[in-house]
Amino acid sequence: MGNQQVQDRINALREILNQYGYEYYVLDRPSVPDAEYDQKLQELKKLEKAHPELITSDSPTQRVGAEPLDAFQKVQHHIPMLSLGNAFNEADLRDFDRRVTRETDQPVSYVCELKIDGLAVSLTYENGKFTRGATRGDGTTGEDITSNLRTIRSIPLSIKEKETIEVRGEAFMPHRSFLALNKAKQANNEEPFANPRNAAAGSLRQLDPKIAATRNLDTFLYGVGEWEAGALSSHSERLHYLKELGLKTNPEWKKCATIEEVIEYVNYWTNERPHLDYEIDGIVVKVDNLTQQEELGFTAKNPRWAIAYKFPAEEAITKLQDIELSV
Ligand code: NAD
Repeated sequence: MGNQQVQDRINALREILNQYGYEYYVLDRPSVPDAEYDQKLQELKKLEKAHPELITSDSPTQRVGAEPLDAFQKVQHHIPMLSLGNAFNEADLRDFDRRVTRETDQPVSYVCELKIDGLAVSLTYENGKFTRGATRGDGTTGEDITSNLRTIRSIPLSIKEKETIEVRGEAFMPHRSFLALNKAKQANNEEPFANPRNAAAGSLRQLDPKIAATRNLDTFLYGVGEWEAGALSSHSERLHYLKELGLKTNPEWKKCATIEEVIEYVNYWTNERPHLDYEIDGIVVKVDNLTQQEELGFTAKNPRWAIAYKFPAEEAITKLQDIELSV
């Protein structure tokens, strides 16, 4: 490709990705399967890597999510809520392992978690009471959706210790709730939601919490944001602690001593995912030791100590069609 052709292709990709991003993040109504978005984003990343002089700060490769809607109060995330780098195959996972082990002196253990296809949320507890819940938004500014989150039964309004802690996780719509909701929508001649992720996001960004209350949403918490008193030394200890606090964590996580074990876990869930009552779109692999996490640090968009393995594209497309057909 000549220079002009590269620039033209980059412009075309940015334009279409911005449109897809707007439909997905702002309207909660995607027009294409995630795999198609991911594939175009990968192509753009490759072109930008080969031509770094063409990277612009507003390129979809440089952004997390989308700006918050004006309808909600804004919430500043003092610790940014980042996106994750992606792996699409075993080789990408092994590359990740090589990068991580190169940067750290001690042996590395990983925690593997299911990548829940929902909406990232931040929950703040002050002296043990739930005081604020927010979306990720663009990573630094989210939307205050406290009233909607208070309607989710698995979010305790007070936790078991008088802690001041910001916890993070995923709000999602289980398949059962999604199918019932779309059936009801169709019965009312309303447009059904494209997938459970968008249904969850659409429900939590309603101005009337009574609507969210009818949507039977659920949560899994998997991380900690701001936490002054925090003294734990690993991600796995944090997961145990979140559970002790009475927060809902996903029981399916696993600590892995090697990348081989990680790959085994990925293969297991590639086959088992249809049996879950909620949508997962991959596996998140995180370095367990928090000192090692700190050593590895962050890029502008992603932590270097974690990666999201994405399930293969064909499945994502079939899955979307299956869901539509089964409604
Ligand atoms: P991402 O989905 O690749 O990964 C980051 C997110 O994973 C986190 O923010 C968090 O919400 C989530 N997550 C779920 N389980 C987790 C766990 N156990 N630990 C940590 N995080 C966990 O990145 P993204 O920036 O949220 O969005 C990109 C996604 O949105 C892609 O899947 C992309 O295909 C999709 N998308 C689709 C369209 C479309 O038009 N179809 C448009 C834009 C984006």
